[in-house]
Amino acid sequence: MSRNDELFARAQRSIPGGVNSPVRAFRQVGGTPRFFERGAGARLWDADGREYIDYVGSWGPMILGHAHPTVVAAVQDAAAHGLGYGAPTEAEIVIAEEVMKLMPSLEKIRFVSSGTEAAMSAIRLARGATGRTRIVKFDGCYHGHADSLLVKAGSGLLTFGNPTSAGVPADFAAHTIVLDYNDIAEIDACFEKFGHEIACVIVEPIAGNMNFVRGTPEWHARLRELCTQHGSVLIWDEVMTGFRVALGGAQSLYGIRPDLTVLGKVIGGGMPVAAFGGSAEVMKFLAPEGPVYQAGTLSGNPVAVAAGLATLRLIQEPGFHDRLGEQTAKLMAGFQAAAESAGLPLAVDSVGGMFGFYFREGLPGTLSEVHTADVERFKKFFHAMLDRGVYLAPSAYEAGFVSAAHDGAVVAETLVAAAGAFRAVA
Ligand code: PMP
Repeated sequence: MSRNDELFARAQRSIPGGVNSPVRAFRQVGGTPRFFERGAGARLWDADGREYIDYVGSWGPMILGHAHPTVVAAVQDAAAHGLGYGAPTEAEIVIAEEVMKLMPSLEKIRFVSSGTEAAMSAIRLARGATGRTRIVKFDGCYHGHADSLLVKAGSGLLTFGNPTSAGVPADFAAHTIVLDYNDIAEIDACFEKFGHEIACVIVEPIAGNMNFVRGTPEWHARLRELCTQHGSVLIWDEVMTGFRVALGGAQSLYGIRPDLTVLGKVIGGGMPVAAFGGSAEVMKFLAPEGPVYQAGTLSGNPVAVAAGLATLRLIQEPGFHDRLGEQTAKLMAGFQAAAESAGLPLAVDSVGGMFGFYFREGLPGTLSEVHTADVERFKKFFHAMLDRGVYLAPSAYEAGFVSAAHDGAVVAETLVAAAGAFRAVA
């Protein structure tokens, strides 16, 4: 029995499923999850001492690679001063100013500890600011596990949503309308019917929770237009895309100004930091200035904020995102070429340091199209790569992440493994 097997067996005796977040359990791909002991740059080492090139990056935060010395030093320094006070610190102002400089649509910002909290609070704020109840989300987008967000479309277009998790009352789901991603006719019909009741539309501008799907510029422009016309709050969930697809996030690429933005992952550099912010007009409804309640013992924690701030500073080096985007594009082009030589159809895409690939012809634009990709082949490919020392997301429905530590040599090494893995699964 390997040490990973031993740890997994032991973990399951104390922790449900052996993990503290479900996708870590390898349920989709099968096999034993790797228990990691250490990371450095682009690489991870597991409990059996095996080395992997990592394309999960802690699910997005590790844009500088693991254990970046400057970030680690910032955390150590902050920790030496005290782990937290539950009172304001100057570091919170500095990180707020830094984020507002990088994303000008944020005129005010509130820090929290997880993307779930940030998205949940942004929705409460939108409801409080508009005095409306209904919210709109899109099939395949994930915004954390708040009750009103664990919802799938009802039986017909524009009917009440249904819970996707036990424990979510149908009454909560009933206020959530779930529409197809990238479908302009659906959102038009939705606003025509419910426009005056819609508090907010929440969307991942580039979806990373159904593999990797770009929202079309026309669709995003329409969402912006409809929200403005009907007085609904447009919320962009940039937990994944923020600081990763570009320094200014997806909003800088599309040239769209959301009313509220939800941030997480890179903003904390691997520590528990997330945030939501946006127009002063909407943010003024937030307690203690306004009537919408939101709070957190660990919000703006100084040690966590130190990691985020050090990360946000380092990614502002000139050319950082150009280099990141080049390596990521090279990785995807290499995957496609290797798959082609193995006789397999593969569609690939990437923006900045975020990527996706599909065992199908052509890129999908909706969740139902994502479902037509060959998941069985993905599972085999995942394990073929793992055997060759490359750690991909253990799910066909998650985007991949490249860090600044993934240089040409690391990408080339990955492509050697990929060539073998594609041949093995062809
Ligand atoms: N929004 C998006 C787009 C996400 O990808 C995630 C997490 N993967 C969340 C929200 C929730 O963030 P957290 O896991 O920090 O609660």
